[in-house]
Amino acid sequence: MVKIECSNCSEEAVIEIKRKGKNYCPDHYRKYFLNQVGKVLDKYEIEGKIAVAISGGKDSSTCAEALTHFERIDVRSFYINLGIGEYSKKSRGSAKEVSDELGLDLDIIDLERRYGRSVPEINEEEGGSPCALCGMIKRYLTNRYAFENGFDYVATGHNLSDEVSSTFHNLANVYLTPFRGLEPVLNEKKNYKLAERVKPLYFLKDKETLIYAQTNDISFYHGECPLSQDSPTDELKNWLHELDSEKPGIMRSFAKSFMRLEDRMEKDQRELKKCENCGYATATRICRFCRVVRNFP
Ligand SMILES: [Zn+2]
Ligand SMILES: [Zn+2]
Repeated sequence: MVKIECSNCSEEAVIEIKRKGKNYCPDHYRKYFLNQVGKVLDKYEIEGKIAVAISGGKDSSTCAEALTHFERIDVRSFYINLGIGEYSKKSRGSAKEVSDELGLDLDIIDLERRYGRSVPEINEEEGGSPCALCGMIKRYLTNRYAFENGFDYVATGHNLSDEVSSTFHNLANVYLTPFRGLEPVLNEKKNYKLAERVKPLYFLKDKETLIYAQTNDISFYHGECPLSQDSPTDELKNWLHELDSEKPGIMRSFAKSFMRLEDRMEKDQRELKKCENCGYATATRICRFCRVVRNFP
């Protein structure tokens, strides 16, 4: 195979960033990657205590590692144990490993221990899509953890591929309510107990995160959740990646357009209520987490 040289030095390149017409060796790629993360942090003036929700997968582990390169950030990590058998055990092992490597104390939130039932048990009774249930529970517990512990932010590993494909999925289903949250940063709303959320990998694609994780020896678990169904966004994601390879940078432009649309729709937002049971933000009288998990005193 022909060796492709880094555009900045004579080392062998590990990735091509078509949008910039550049190839990077591991060292120069790290600079590029951290620069993309830094842009999000700078634009929104992010600093202080940030809790990273580490799932054991590549994105959240990479997110935690990347944040440790920024001195103005005090990184903490936590893991949500959803109780999905072997999969959760291995994910937890990976989350612990990466936290140890980064010198972070991993806090564990155990759904079953704290609320009495695991995701498979709740899903068995509630029916419906296990992924939607799981997503809702993770969002709830992530926000609650950050809020209760007084963190300045909670960071998640959502990347450009996730963000753009899920918005396309919502557009394809004429589902415009979740047009909130399309910015790399979601402001806190203290009276609704909403913690400030940040997505440091917002401008980086799936593959870019994977190559960063691999070339920087970041531990992560490759396993797939046994409850997971073919995600409806997978096909859209593949299509978007193909399109982006033909028109480099188009995914980023989509993300930027969605961000601007969100600004315009701000006033149009659905009114927030406070859950009558737990007091956290919801659109209904009792939040879905409390209804499903039966989080009643
Ligand atoms: Zn180089
Ligand atoms: Zn509630």
